[in-house]
Amino acid sequence: MKIRNLLDKDEFAISFEVFPPKTQINYESVETATRNIAALKPEFMSVTYGAGGGTSEYTVSIAKDLQQRYEIPMMAHLTCITSTQEKIANQLSLLRENGIENILALRGDIPEGMEEEAKNRSFEHASDLIAEIKKHGDFCIGGACYPEVHPDSDSQKQDIENLKKKVDAGCEFLVTQMFFDNNILYNFLYKIREAGISVPVMPGIMPITNAKQMKRTIKLSGTQLPQRFIRILETFGDSPQAMRQAGIAYATEQIIDLYANGVKKVHVYSMNQPMVAEAIMNNLSDILG
Ligand SMILES: Cc1cc2nc3c(=O)[nH]c(=O)nc-3n(C[C@H](O)[C@H](O)[C@H](O)COP(=O)(O)OP(=O)(O)OC[C@H]3O[C@@H](n4cnc5c(N)ncnc54)[C@H](O)[C@@H]3O)c2cc1C
Repeated sequence: MKIRNLLDKDEFAISFEVFPPKTQINYESVETATRNIAALKPEFMSVTYGAGGGTSEYTVSIAKDLQQRYEIPMMAHLTCITSTQEKIANQLSLLRENGIENILALRGDIPEGMEEEAKNRSFEHASDLIAEIKKHGDFCIGGACYPEVHPDSDSQKQDIENLKKKVDAGCEFLVTQMFFDNNILYNFLYKIREAGISVPVMPGIMPITNAKQMKRTIKLSGTQLPQRFIRILETFGDSPQAMRQAGIAYATEQIIDLYANGVKKVHVYSMNQPMVAEAIMNNLSDILG
């Protein structure tokens, strides 16, 4: 099932993102976690792609397992910053052979120690990768977008102009970087619609359940933390269980506000934590219907 067809439906729905194992050693524990998340029956799920592509086969095998076992449409992430055209062609063949029809096409960031591979890359931007994927058959292609501007961009205007190139290249929907203030998203949506970008946008919601672990990620992404959220981190950050409960409540509130403002498809960064995914689904059970 193509995600474009799911997004056409005017129904409230949650999808989850999971990540593949880094090594064979933790394959089984990741597989179990992702299966437990899939058992919650989200509308679809996505599996990230390890920076540098070292675990690209795991992205495909986890996606295939969940799609076959739970009949949930799957989306595989794919980055190009350290890839040649040939490597991308091989990954696309692997995806097709395994029945994965949806791809989140990304540039990625150069991982430490892979500067040489990056020099030989065939694609500069996600828009180039999208144009390449279009040549390889009927994949449904999504891309990333940044309500708080991608760190490489000098301005939001420039970032949105580049986003338009991505959509013009064939990107059919967008998933946002995490954000903790919904007004930032509403503002961003207004601006991209003004710029002529009309594809569906799925907000990416990150439930913060571990303050320490998240601080670095948030810093790297340039995401702003509203005062209300900083207070929560300060109050509950040292108590893992309280932080988890508060983080789930905050994410739930964000999702409810989005729905109340007409945003019906939300992608949740479930971070391979079935308990978190389940708590969010339970909090929304009557709303999801
Ligand atoms: C929803 C989501 C999922 C992600 N999943 C993964 C993952 O699985 N694995 C992983 O390694 N990383 C992942 N990332 C991180 C992502 O790889 C990084 O944010 C990366 O820095 C940018 O990728 P991009 O596809 O947005 O790049 P691009 O769209 O190429 O944008 C990067 C920069 O280049 C500019 N730009 C874009 N197109 C053009 C153009 N045609 N001409 C000139 N400038 C241009 C943009 O304005 C921006 O400043 C994800 C991010 C998001 C938001």
